[in-house]
Amino acid sequence: MNTQLSNDNNSLHEILEATRKIASAHLDKLHELAPGRLIQNIALKDLPEKGIGALKALHQFDAEYAPMLTNSAGPRYFGFVTGGSTPAAIAGDWLVSAYDQNACGSNDSIAPQIEKQTIHFFKQLFGLDEHYFGSFVTGATVSNMTSLAIARQWAGEQIGVDASEEGAASIPNLKIVSATIHSSAVKSAAMLGIGRKAVVRIDTLPHRETIDIDKLEAFLEENSSQQINPLIIIANAGTVNTVDFDDLVTIGKLREKYKFWMHVDAAFGGFAAVCTKYAHLMDGVNYADSITIDAHKWLNVPYDAAMQFTRHKKLQLKVFQNSAAYLGDPEKSPDFFHYTPENSRRFRALPSWMTLMAYGREGYAEIIERNCACAKQLGDWIETSSKYTLLAPVKMNVVCFTLKSADLTLEKIQAFLAKIRDDGRVFFTQTIYKGTPAIRAAISNWQTDTNDIEIAKEVLSVLS
Ligand SMILES: *Cc1c(COP(=O)(O)O)cnc(C)c1O
Repeated sequence: MNTQLSNDNNSLHEILEATRKIASAHLDKLHELAPGRLIQNIALKDLPEKGIGALKALHQFDAEYAPMLTNSAGPRYFGFVTGGSTPAAIAGDWLVSAYDQNACGSNDSIAPQIEKQTIHFFKQLFGLDEHYFGSFVTGATVSNMTSLAIARQWAGEQIGVDASEEGAASIPNLKIVSATIHSSAVKSAAMLGIGRKAVVRIDTLPHRETIDIDKLEAFLEENSSQQINPLIIIANAGTVNTVDFDDLVTIGKLREKYKFWMHVDAAFGGFAAVCTKYAHLMDGVNYADSITIDAHKWLNVPYDAAMQFTRHKKLQLKVFQNSAAYLGDPEKSPDFFHYTPENSRRFRALPSWMTLMAYGREGYAEIIERNCACAKQLGDWIETSSKYTLLAPVKMNVVCFTLKSADLTLEKIQAFLAKIRDDGRVFFTQTIYKGTPAIRAAISNWQTDTNDIEIAKEVLSVLS
């Protein structure tokens, strides 16, 4: 064995202890460190011929790179929709590396069964009926892509083709219909060979991001009279700018009249189901053929983790089955690698299992409600401020606002957000809301409380 490797093997406890110290010291500072930063590109260095050993590498990382990482897991990082990591989730994630399981399936480890157990917890948390099959993937983008791949297989079956054999071109003119579609679903259309141009955008209701059902129905009516292919509808449950929800019940019921696959992108909005106050927003989710929900956003587990749910396990198998002989007959050994894009799979369920066990439904309801109350607190203040305009009522955890300015441009917003970032107390990101350059504050971290919002208000009062 190489000397460095054998030395490290002998000092494994010391290495893990030094790692724990660095991690603990960082976590102690989540409330102090600047949430956002701007890092310049650095010059690349050559690969060492002889290694320096884990401890030296660790200390080099700590001295050279750690100070330049972002504090996106801290309580005042309000960019994108970014969760942190709960204590239980961090513990789980450490053990994922220590045990290094390949959670692809089979009975040679309990890991895939812990994944099934965790999916069962999620179905109960989100009120999904027991017939959904679920699995972990790396993020909501891959969950959307997986769902659309199953949807495409379904669409093929409606016209008598097997898209997994014949390819995407065997279903000419396949359309994906949505209103406020997330960019990742459009990207998925590109990845799957359906094509970005296949996305048909239906108007929203005025001043809302929810789909105009009358316009959707008019489109469906026209489509069915022209005998075009079966459609895929993506219903959005929690839009990124204003956390608006499509009416899932009404969309679901349209299937009594029209033929379509219903996918629900509930990447973070799915967590509405956890609180009595917001649960009605997810009513009708059980009409869905497939559902996307992220774990690394509002569940507050480390990157990367999301769930994909489907009612069509057999179709999913047709798309994703890996038929190498040594992997066994997929019908007989219904293992995850026959259902997900990945074959080898990280034991991604463990951090989620840990955090759900540790805090339960009640713990999550408290986080969601507190985050939403914080968003309301900020939104109420913005509404009365002379410097900012609230662009939409605060529905859940996102505040969408902009500068009161005669010549509002995206550049102006960017310059303002750079000032806020460099001030170092809070961090927001930019957006365009119905054509208006704007700012989003998305509050999704388990630690954020009213004091953090007071700090945000203070920063917004003094900067301009
Ligand atoms: C974040 C998000 C996605 C993409 O999720 P990733 O985890 O970044 O891949 C998809 N849809 C919605 C609604 C989202 O908010």
